[in-house]
Amino acid sequence: MASANQLVNAQGKQPLFSFGVISDVQYADIPDGCSFIGVPRFYRHSILVLQRAVQHWNDYKHKFVLNFGDIVDGFCPKDQSLSTVRKVIGEFENFNGTVYHMIGNHCLYNLPRDKLLPILKISNPDGRAYYDFSPTPEFRFVILDGYDISAIGWPQDHPNALEALKFLQEKNPNSEKNSPVGLVGLERRFLMFNGGVGKEQLEWLDGILQEATKMRQIVVICCHLPLDPGASSQEALLWNYDEVMNLIHGYNCVKVCFSGHDHKGGHSIDSHGIHHRVFEAALECPPGTDAFGYVDVYNDRLSLVGTDRMASTDMYFNPQPDL
Ligand SMILES: [Zn+2]
Repeated sequence: MASANQLVNAQGKQPLFSFGVISDVQYADIPDGCSFIGVPRFYRHSILVLQRAVQHWNDYKHKFVLNFGDIVDGFCPKDQSLSTVRKVIGEFENFNGTVYHMIGNHCLYNLPRDKLLPILKISNPDGRAYYDFSPTPEFRFVILDGYDISAIGWPQDHPNALEALKFLQEKNPNSEKNSPVGLVGLERRFLMFNGGVGKEQLEWLDGILQEATKMRQIVVICCHLPLDPGASSQEALLWNYDEVMNLIHGYNCVKVCFSGHDHKGGHSIDSHGIHHRVFEAALECPPGTDAFGYVDVYNDRLSLVGTDRMASTDMYFNPQPDL
């Protein structure tokens, strides 16, 4: 049951709606391990975090859930990839509402797009994983595909894979394209486990933002890969985050950008007053701890209420004139 706190906040105002969030579950039935910089990873426990999250979201009757990607780890034995992805999706399906998924690099290490997207119920043509939805007429959520231009997940001869390989060849001199050795500052994002938003998707986004502006909607952008250096490690950023943000900054409708991928989490407010919140990873929760949350939506702010290792964040913005 929803608590009194959840229904009416400290200022006595009821949220317009709320939704659940989780990122980087990266489940695999393998022993615990570490990231390449030595951060512990609890591969078997992370599905318990997801189970507790779903229970919580159901208890609080949230309108929908956003999953920020990387549901199964790349170390999952390949003969178990399909069954493990299905197992994690099965847990999400216990939520009494719609779950909107994003794809991450770890999802794509396990399954190619043509196998993965139908399981995630992403039904765009030609393997595209970007889409939008409006939970109420005043709000629009835009899901970006950060692996649109990527060396992972597409058939080897797909134009987007070839474009990504050419890009990495130009930007990263190392033979191991996941190594940032020798790359300086923001160049350190030019790694194979990241990706970019292609021309066609940028044009689609431009059209969506035009439409949202006309409709006086508040827009929330969601992407597995972070879009602002202030909220993320340089090594985790979308390759062309600057191009995407230049487009977004041409409009006033986008108020918040959410992402995953950079497991430690982060928050920033960029030069145009847009909040960027990177979610803490479920994978890195020691047994018995959690990292998930929900967002209460108001006409002047989004309030993230985090559980345990996910920090709570109030994100204020100027309301749209008609709201
Ligand atoms: Zn990732």
